[in-house]
Amino acid sequence: MTQLANMLEKEAVTLVRVLEQIRREGPISQVEIGQKLGLGRAIVNVHTKKLLAERVVVPTGEREAGGMGRPRVLLDLAREGKAVLGIALDSPVLSGAVMDFSNRIVVRHERDVSEVKSHEELAEHVAQLVQQLQADARAKSLELYSACFSVPGLLEDGTGRILNYVNMPAANGLDAKQVLGQLLGVPIYVVPLASAIYWGGLESDQSDQQIFQVIWDLGVGLMPGRGYEVGFKAYARKPGQVNNNIRDIGHAVLWPGGRPCYCGRRGCLEAYLGGHAITDRWNERHPEERITFSQLLDRASRNEPAYLNQIARQGRRLGEALGWIFAVHQPGQIKLSGQIPDAVPVARDAFWDGVCRRIGEDQPQSTFSYVGDTRSIELLGSCRLALHVRFNKPLLDIVSDDDASESTASTIVVG
Ligand SMILES: [Zn+2]
Repeated sequence: MTQLANMLEKEAVTLVRVLEQIRREGPISQVEIGQKLGLGRAIVNVHTKKLLAERVVVPTGEREAGGMGRPRVLLDLAREGKAVLGIALDSPVLSGAVMDFSNRIVVRHERDVSEVKSHEELAEHVAQLVQQLQADARAKSLELYSACFSVPGLLEDGTGRILNYVNMPAANGLDAKQVLGQLLGVPIYVVPLASAIYWGGLESDQSDQQIFQVIWDLGVGLMPGRGYEVGFKAYARKPGQVNNNIRDIGHAVLWPGGRPCYCGRRGCLEAYLGGHAITDRWNERHPEERITFSQLLDRASRNEPAYLNQIARQGRRLGEALGWIFAVHQPGQIKLSGQIPDAVPVARDAFWDGVCRRIGEDQPQSTFSYVGDTRSIELLGSCRLALHVRFNKPLLDIVSDDDASESTASTIVVG
């Protein structure tokens, strides 16, 4: 990374930290923000000026400075009447939410899009969802400030068009930016779903903490990161190499010449342990009852033993398969999310059991947590990105640059 890019990234991160501090503790003075974040007065001033200019933050009053000096101006988020819209496409579900400036999700809807056959049909679903959310926001007297659409897969540079979404080929060709643009008169951002998940799962105290987030649903994703340094750029963009491209772990070829994968190669981790593969395996063994991934999860979540055992077994195998990475990197935290652990609690334990087998049972270096309800995290992340990137140009570059550049048609991002 160049020195300039480095500097801009640091600046983007500081702006986010300042905004988050105001969101959590506002009304708050600039002096207090500086003290809490360990930042100098001049730097805090630069960032609060930007936030005030964008009317994201407003002055709400003054506090006496304990008898000495001028009273301090208190700042708070412009909490009244403003909202952002976030949408996440995570096959087979399209979900959307409206979030107010205090980070509260005030409206939420979702649609099953598993039967969608073309990107035109998907565009209609997106449009209907947006209209529904827009009407609900109006009914609550909320004015939209910006919108963010999060989608896994490869995006076309400069537009919002999906080029390659392996787990939902019908989505290829959808230009989410265009669809939303026709309905909403606000800035619209299309970003990789991974960014939204990371942003949604972000906590302020992560600055010193190395976190590996595992996403387990139709595919398998892995994102390493360090708090606000966010890991968006902490991996190389060349596909096919585990070490250089750790986030695309699902399509790392671990067993050359092995089972065919949906991405066109053979022997990917996902070809064995992604939700697609697990469902396919079930259907191969039980040709008399073909089921979908959703049905498999539904039956396992109702504690039907055959389905439950199958998922637990694969959870353990996935933990073992990723365990070697954790043994090498020893992250401070391992977080698990995704449709499979959301639906089947035993999958969480089985996964961690598998990890521990690989890194040694006694006193692993890492703490483990199941993050919970992936779609909520995706929506929260999409909404927060919509708020943050609107006035934070370097952050937008960090977030959206990632999938579009240097990629080839074979690059797949968190399937
Ligand atoms: Zn693959």
